[in-house]
Amino acid sequence: MSRKTKRTLPCAQCGALCCRYMAIEVDPPETEEDYDDVRWYLLHRNVRVLIDREGDWLVAFETPCAKLGPDGRCQDYENRPLLCRSYPHGNEPCEFEGGMFVEEFTTVEEFAAWRQRNGG
Ligand code: SF4
Ligand code: SF4
Repeated sequence: MSRKTKRTLPCAQCGALCCRYMAIEVDPPETEEDYDDVRWYLLHRNVRVLIDREGDWLVAFETPCAKLGPDGRCQDYENRPLLCRSYPHGNEPCEFEGGMFVEEFTTVEEFAAWRQRNGG
């Protein structure tokens, strides 16, 4: 017999890392034009490009949620969106636990170096 225990997350210590940005999934780049689009994303301040553990690519905007309080807690917890309720998925590590992303680019230089390492 097994008993499922609820996962405990260290939210009180983390400062709400997962509430301080939002990210949109984009198609992984394949053509030179696609790679150039990624460069364009990264030329903007407070934008990151991420690759998650499944190989999905995301564009992330560093902007805190309007419902994030100064104490680092959600001010509308009962009405938070489904994405917030289901994060992190399953046993995946959240931002504070090591992150969901295997690659993170914040500048065009980092992205160019990654392309070179990966034969792009
Ligand atoms: S990043 Fe993890 S520990 Fe921090 S608030 Fe989000 S779920 Fe909690
Ligand atoms: S709605 Fe609440 S839980 Fe969701 S991102 Fe905003 S502050 Fe965080």
